[in-house]
Amino acid sequence: MKPILMTVDLTTGAARTTPLDELFDTYLGGTGAATKLLMDEIAQNKDPYAESSSIFFAIGPFNGVYPLCTKTVALFISPLTGNLGESHAGGNLAMALYQAGIHILKITGRSAFPCYIRIVNHEVSLHRAYSLKGMSALASERVLKERIGNAWKSSIIRVGPAGERESPIACVTVDTSRHFGRLGLGAIFGNKNLKAVIVSGSGGIQIGNNKGRYLKFYKNLYDQFVHSTALNKYHDLGTSMNILPLNQINGLPTRNFSQGFFEGAESISGENFADRLLIQKIACAHCPVGCIHMAILRESFDEKNHQYKSNKIAYDFELIYAVGSNLSLNRPEDVLRLLLIIEKQGWDAISMGVTLAWATEAFMKGVITSRETGGLILKFGDADIYEAVLNKVIGAERGGNAGSEFYRDLEKGTAFLAEKYGGESFAITFGRNEAPGYITGLHGFLGFSTGIRHSHLDSAGYSLDQKKRGVEKPAEAWTEDLFREGRWRTLLNSLVICLFARNVFTMPTILEGLASLGMTQWDEGKLQELAKKIHVMKYQLKKDLGFSFERERLPKKLASVYTATGIIDESEYLRQMRVFEDLLAKDAASLT
Ligand code: SF4
Repeated sequence: MKPILMTVDLTTGAARTTPLDELFDTYLGGTGAATKLLMDEIAQNKDPYAESSSIFFAIGPFNGVYPLCTKTVALFISPLTGNLGESHAGGNLAMALYQAGIHILKITGRSAFPCYIRIVNHEVSLHRAYSLKGMSALASERVLKERIGNAWKSSIIRVGPAGERESPIACVTVDTSRHFGRLGLGAIFGNKNLKAVIVSGSGGIQIGNNKGRYLKFYKNLYDQFVHSTALNKYHDLGTSMNILPLNQINGLPTRNFSQGFFEGAESISGENFADRLLIQKIACAHCPVGCIHMAILRESFDEKNHQYKSNKIAYDFELIYAVGSNLSLNRPEDVLRLLLIIEKQGWDAISMGVTLAWATEAFMKGVITSRETGGLILKFGDADIYEAVLNKVIGAERGGNAGSEFYRDLEKGTAFLAEKYGGESFAITFGRNEAPGYITGLHGFLGFSTGIRHSHLDSAGYSLDQKKRGVEKPAEAWTEDLFREGRWRTLLNSLVICLFARNVFTMPTILEGLASLGMTQWDEGKLQELAKKIHVMKYQLKKDLGFSFERERLPKKLASVYTATGIIDESEYLRQMRVFEDLLAKDAASLT
């Protein structure tokens, strides 16, 4: 299929298509191609809230045609960090874009009225969305589905009220419980007056001339996924299977990263969630694994007459850490209760969880007082208080709550709060992004600092820390592993695969997958060179937006916390940052 860029300008309502053959020939697709487009754009504009700022949604050559190649990459300037915003989501979006014949969707401009975009193949229409304003991310999907009728092949991405309020920790929700979660894409939707985008298409799978080779490769791939023990684990308990093993090694963040052991871990483990509350497992389009775990939460609305409403909520490791162990909540129902509010509002659960944890510690240390909180006493382990805090944040816009300035600030994220109120030493952020759920040691934290997105998914340093046990190897060699993994992942993210399938998509598999689609121009050397090129380009983009390795610091609190691999020596941490930087400089110098 010929790659196509669809540009939708919200200021004028105009849409146009542009061929992308050259860009995809050079950068493969996905994150590689979209980074190049964003790089060209920031030469003119670096403000995420400028009318001319753009969002790019990109898929790659494997989406639509191979199983587990289910992700869409969103690229934008992050309103949370002011730097590169990159977020990946599954659901139906990648398949819908593929069927619509669109490889990159660019949304630019700002609508004069609340709107949603409907895309059917290459037909684009802009619709008024006054009636959707203020509607939750869950309700707006239901309403839009009814509005468009036959929605089963569509993908609906939308923001909740948090995005409309331009909260820099707002996410974009994709179909059922998938998210462009991190780095504040929801705020850009809100700023553009954009409530939702609906994509559908009628195109079939296009596989080039060698159908036999494609089918053979496809079957082989499919069999590997279906019979893989690792992927079966994702189907069984999902990523929440990691709660207990991480806790055992002292790697599960607890009470704002005060320690790596949570005494209530058994209760919020994947096993306990599954035994008691799991009701359904679902999958992204074109995935035979199905790792998305949905739980049921019963809410009473008339206690006297035993009247209940039931809610389905997705849970996984990061969500359980963020509003479970990190807030010291050990009842799964309490975790789900908070997640439901977060899901409806459309916040990133990791960022909100870390921010609530910071606020609790700030209250305990007197950095904020009941004057700021309007009388609420913040304490770890109190789910009712956290629910009250979230409701105050929701109500703060109306200005009626005591302490509303603080609650308005709370949805701006941890770094903002710490700068305004103090308490930077226990603000657990990397590059202004709230930290994911690992206290594993030096390379876990180094991965968050040096990662392109400041995410655990950039280079999986948390996994390296776990591999260190019993292995004698100098720190520099681990840093080199971290660097190589990050570089390799730029290739996987250009294809764009679900990273749970990363062990199946090895170099020979990728080459055969490309060749089966007729893309025989690639060989190992060219792909390695491309990974290097995209990796270097991304850091160049970050530097152009103000990132510097020199300014990256380990949050002060983490220099004294006992991690899965012991206490971190801060000077060693900074030394390894230099090692990483040198490796990047070497790559940049070697590019032809
Ligand atoms: S393994 Fe999970 S996240 Fe990955 S494609 Fe399948 S359902 Fe989606």
